[in-house]
Amino acid sequence: MMDNNEKSASLNFIERIIEEDLANNKHGGRVVTRFPPEPNGYLHIGHAKSICLNFGLARKYSGRCHLRYDDTNPEKEEQEYIDSIEEDVRWLGFDWGEHKYFASDYFEELYQFAVKLIKKGKAYVDSLSPEEIREYRGTLTKPGRESPDRSRSIEENLELFEKMRAGEFEDGEYVLRAKIDMASGNLNMRDPALYRIKRVQHHRTGETWPIYPMYDFTHPLSDALEGVTHSICTLEFEDHRPLYDWVIQECEPEYRPQQYEFARLNLNYTVMSKRKLLRLVKEGYVDGWDDPRMPTISGIRRRGYTPQAIRDFADRIGVAKANSTIDIALLEHCVRDDLNARAPRVMAVLDPIKLVIDNYPQGQVEWLEAENNPEDPQAGSRKIPFSGQLYIERDDFMEEPPKKFFRLAPGREIRLKHAYYVTATSVEKDPQTGEITTVHCEYDPHSRGGWTEDGRKVKGTCHWVSAAHAIEAPVNLYDHLFTAENPGERTGNFIDDLNPDSLKVIQKAKLEPSLQEAEAGQIFQFMRKGYFCVDGTHSRPGQPVFNRTVTLKDTWAKLKKKMGV
Ligand code: ATP
Ligand code: MG
Repeated sequence: MMDNNEKSASLNFIERIIEEDLANNKHGGRVVTRFPPEPNGYLHIGHAKSICLNFGLARKYSGRCHLRYDDTNPEKEEQEYIDSIEEDVRWLGFDWGEHKYFASDYFEELYQFAVKLIKKGKAYVDSLSPEEIREYRGTLTKPGRESPDRSRSIEENLELFEKMRAGEFEDGEYVLRAKIDMASGNLNMRDPALYRIKRVQHHRTGETWPIYPMYDFTHPLSDALEGVTHSICTLEFEDHRPLYDWVIQECEPEYRPQQYEFARLNLNYTVMSKRKLLRLVKEGYVDGWDDPRMPTISGIRRRGYTPQAIRDFADRIGVAKANSTIDIALLEHCVRDDLNARAPRVMAVLDPIKLVIDNYPQGQVEWLEAENNPEDPQAGSRKIPFSGQLYIERDDFMEEPPKKFFRLAPGREIRLKHAYYVTATSVEKDPQTGEITTVHCEYDPHSRGGWTEDGRKVKGTCHWVSAAHAIEAPVNLYDHLFTAENPGERTGNFIDDLNPDSLKVIQKAKLEPSLQEAEAGQIFQFMRKGYFCVDGTHSRPGQPVFNRTVTLKDTWAKLKKKMGV
């Protein structure tokens, strides 16, 4: 058993707050969180951190987590985004049950709260233009100036606000502002706008509303209306917390939620702002929101990342109060860790040359036993065809090998995985280019299964496929989308740091025939090459297309070893 100190040491700071609140019966023992996306883009790996945190807390403390669309910006929102958000949250392994909400469902209640503020003398209708409001606001070093409309009477404010709602004014003619403090050191408290006029269609409320509430007004009240207890957002909102608290205090809703801020996820070699992701899609730098190079959840899903790996990643990075940048190698490490346990091993030759076994009986085919996953005894085995004509990787043979090269070379013996020992004897070359086209070798018939009778050892083991049985398939080799750790830092334009080699397509890789029927989404380890996933968009039955999920080179594990941790 852990004692109390140990237990609280292993909690993150939000869990500590929740446990304290539970101990003090602060919210009547309830834990209600929410994940509040704006439906104006696809979710990305940063959102995944927030989803794992909010839904994870609800699960851990037997509470609930709401999915709430923050849909107060009518122009940019689309159903396509809503559908993708729900698919992604479910895929990550979470469920909001019946608790799906839209901020737009609260427009009437929010309006009534605004009326209440006006009646309390805490809000006023301002006729300054947006430019004037900006100018009156002042700066960090200069206090703001009060608008001449600040002293407008309550009656007049009520009448004007009603007319705003009735659609009697043009966009920008008036705004409703909170009456707080134009001299506040916190710019968010200098009479922030609560409502603006926007005579546009909304995806849910249509033309009902010519005015729309601002985020800082909508968010705390939506939390309150839903009975959210712990409203968890990213650090940029720390300066908004006094306003959040002011709105709750002055509007006096029944429930009093509280905002807590945590550090957002930043990953190197990655951009996450929706504006930038949208640009990559719109300008055709990638093949849509779910391009396997995108950090979107739909992209990494298509790439072959698993929900288990993402949740593990979220666990390992933890929840902190200070911003930092996480090495993408850690994310890839989590993916490898998970796939290592579950992905069947198969053989695929990506850059083939012929290997001809001169002493193998002409026309003979043997079906050899191959285990599917040494990490998983339950995974069983399959039969793979072996013959006298194989393909091996071009770089597994060298005519004049350097010292540390342990693969095939003239006179050198290696093991063919699951098969036999072979010794290279000679090569054939293209007379025009001088390129090696075929390697000849001899095999030891007494080494079936990859073991010799005399127990002699070889240093190299290579993968192969039988030439007559191999299927051909396209393989997409994906790499980081950006070459710079912090895209855009150098020139100010993140597009300048796009990796020109982020996708290399192999048109005809040679794969073992068991892969013919591989289904979309299935993930394999191509031995010695990496993890590969069957693409969900371009594959057809019997004609799989493979995406490289991640290579086998674990730079994170290496890094940790170097640091001695
Ligand atoms: P952008 O700022 O790019 O327009 P956003 O991050 O504001 O997008 P939202 O849809 O408003 O996108 O985000 C929904 C929730 O996800 C918010 O609570 C936000 O705090 C959280 N979130 C967004 N990005 C990250 C991130 N990188 N790390 C952790 N949480 C994030
Ligand atoms: Mg946002």
